[in-house]
Amino acid sequence: MIEIKSLTLSELKTALTELNQPAFRAKQVYTWLHRGVRSFEEMTDLPKTLREKLAAHYLLTAPVPVRRQESQLDGTIKYLWQLHDGCCVETVLMRYHHGNTVCISSEVGCAMGCVFCASTIGGLVRRLSPGEMLDEVMFTEQDSGQPVSNIVLMGIGEPLDNYDNVCRFLELVNSGEGRNIGMRHISLSTCGIVPRILELAESKLQLTLSVSLHAPDDETRSKIMPVNRRWPVDELLEACRIYYEKTNRRISFEYAMIRNVNDSPETAKLLLKKLRGLPAHVNLIPLNHVEESPFAPSERGTVLRFQKLLEDQGVACTVRRTLGSDIDASCGQLRKKYSKNPSL
Ligand code: SAH
Repeated sequence: MIEIKSLTLSELKTALTELNQPAFRAKQVYTWLHRGVRSFEEMTDLPKTLREKLAAHYLLTAPVPVRRQESQLDGTIKYLWQLHDGCCVETVLMRYHHGNTVCISSEVGCAMGCVFCASTIGGLVRRLSPGEMLDEVMFTEQDSGQPVSNIVLMGIGEPLDNYDNVCRFLELVNSGEGRNIGMRHISLSTCGIVPRILELAESKLQLTLSVSLHAPDDETRSKIMPVNRRWPVDELLEACRIYYEKTNRRISFEYAMIRNVNDSPETAKLLLKKLRGLPAHVNLIPLNHVEESPFAPSERGTVLRFQKLLEDQGVACTVRRTLGSDIDASCGQLRKKYSKNPSL
């Protein structure tokens, strides 16, 4: 069955014309869908026969929250949603002074194999549809009662490995008749799938591209991120330069600080050399410890020293604030726990 929420407004118009409906119905249905109804029954201003017809022809997704954890420290809320086929994904709502940010998953599991990341441990199960990503935004807002102003695609999965669905999700969530969230309020994080970065550059969307760099040299990066064996550091950074030229958007680089792996002053110097001439912002993330992983976070002093080396050379560099550390808020941890023991 076709998922109705993954359709654009113009596709919905065509679909409803095929069901012999007047043109204005499409906008009505679209508005209901983007308001987060859980069934066609709730579309109370549609004739009952049309609601039944829609239910017979289309799948209306509405994930169920199987876990909801709220941080006592900072109000971060983490959801584990169960999708219509039983698969689970995580969404995190973070509260900042400038508004609420929702961090959404783009896939169930992940195929990328980064050695420090919990999301990839069971591999890729399936990709999320555009409507399912929209559901994460809408039902997180609905359940928490907190309106969302920013979206980051930094949850489970590799967004550029689900490129077409992610682009369509962006179109849906950005649409004036829908949630109307501006591209400048959306960030997309990738482990570095070069051809897709170049494709995204051509689309000239005004979103923020975040690149998970984590190491400036191929030897280290290939060890921790298998994707680097396919698209090494220099190729990735060349794609970032092209992305900047096409979009005029500064790139954000994520850099997880891993003790004795990528945190030495020499590494900082090499990073500076590699980023020369590229308008960038480096976000240092103290590594979150994952049970199955042998890696440890860098010491606080090491992180601050690394940051200073970058800043002294004029590279914008922040240390990411840790939110929700009491609720397994980082990538994939809750889904993994739940799949091991659903009674938890
Ligand atoms: N697949 C995308 C987005 C998902 S992860 C990507 O790779 O960018 C969001 C960020 O968290 C990425 O930078 C990822 O490398 C990082 N990350 C994953 N596991 C982590 C951990 N244990 N500690 C710190 N950062 C981690």
